[in-house]
Amino acid sequence: MSTNQELQTRRQAAVPRGVSSATAIFAAKAENAELWDAEGKRYIDFAGGIGVLNSGHRHPKVLAAIKRQLECFTHSAFQVAPYEVYVALAEKLNQLAPCRGPNKTIFLTTGAEAIENAVKIARAATKRPAVIAFTGGFHGRTIMTLALTGKVDPYKKGFGPFPGEVYHVPYPNRIHSVEPEQALQSIEALFKADIEPTQVAAMVIEPVQGEGGFYVAPFEFLRELRRICDQHGILFIADEIQCGFGRTGRMFALEYSGVQADLVAMAKSLAAGLPLSAVVGRTTVMDAVDPGGLGGTYGGNPIACAAALAVLEVFAEEKLVERSAKIGERITRHLNKLAVNNRFSCIGDVRGLGAMVAIELVEDRASNKPAAALTKRWAEICAKNGLILLTRGVYGNVARILVPLTASESLIDEGLGILEQSLEEALAA
Ligand code: PMP
Repeated sequence: MSTNQELQTRRQAAVPRGVSSATAIFAAKAENAELWDAEGKRYIDFAGGIGVLNSGHRHPKVLAAIKRQLECFTHSAFQVAPYEVYVALAEKLNQLAPCRGPNKTIFLTTGAEAIENAVKIARAATKRPAVIAFTGGFHGRTIMTLALTGKVDPYKKGFGPFPGEVYHVPYPNRIHSVEPEQALQSIEALFKADIEPTQVAAMVIEPVQGEGGFYVAPFEFLRELRRICDQHGILFIADEIQCGFGRTGRMFALEYSGVQADLVAMAKSLAAGLPLSAVVGRTTVMDAVDPGGLGGTYGGNPIACAAALAVLEVFAEEKLVERSAKIGERITRHLNKLAVNNRFSCIGDVRGLGAMVAIELVEDRASNKPAAALTKRWAEICAKNGLILLTRGVYGNVARILVPLTASESLIDEGLGILEQSLEEALAA
């Protein structure tokens, strides 16, 4: 048996340092919301593979669906010999997505690819070039999605030039002094200074920013964006890749605002860890692209589609959307209790939507100065104490909770206990 340290040494020699890992925990086995490393040590998984495992690791129903599909075929290429699981999943998502229907769906492999395709479709449908995105947003690591991403370090640094006709406006973020009105005014200013609205194909927004640090766009702000889009014939693309699939207490975060998008990108928890992403959109928009203009060899892999159909069944049977709201309340209540305790005056903010919960650490509440080093130390100590906790945010001072929605309450409480104990240790270190 190799130790984590031995594997880390081999990894450092064989894998470029550009692919960083949040921990040096080499995964050997996982079940629901727990993971065991190469040395047999157990961890509670509050990361869920970056929001991919809302229905848990190795859900028996998902495993059974994968096995059934494995017995039939693993690949034929939808563009060569199409298959029913792809069509069946498209039919389901067409009904589910917060989109102005009737809808159609295309499947791809990664989140970035879904966003790339949403932009391609929007450009084809509007015959316009420009795209508006938001500061702090994250949309992927391909060149176009990096252009849309609103954070330079570490994502964009050194990778330019990026495709043109991408414009950023501020994402509303009260804790860092960006009021929604200010963000809306920036769009008006953009239309005056840089690009006429008739040249804008789409706006791309995460209803709740993921990598940016779990900032929730005010629902009224989303409605205003929809109004601006309608006024100028701009398409509204919702990036629900991280905040979708039940994470926020609704199937899609956009539902809270009542806004319906023209195109919705989804991935992550769609297929419980199998690489699958989707773009769902209005039929008139989706069909703007001529045959052959969309696709990809692996897009909509049959095993991944079968897994996703099982995920949807698990969601319905185990009422995971309702569970997400309950889990979110439980976690938020616990964290808010910590935040009012003087020992933890470093907790500057607890926020989120449903079970998409973040804790922002500051040096002190008066200055609100981001405490990135403390956040990093905290995550390291959590790992040592048996909890996988992800950090991120524009200032590197946000811990994010993306625990599987299938986790038991006692496991979540155990995780929260480790989180609290580890914060104490991080402060004392
Ligand atoms: N959009 C959002 C909101 C994301 O959180 C991510 C991944 N973290 C992506 C796009 C890119 O997805 P992928 O890594 O699968 O390309």
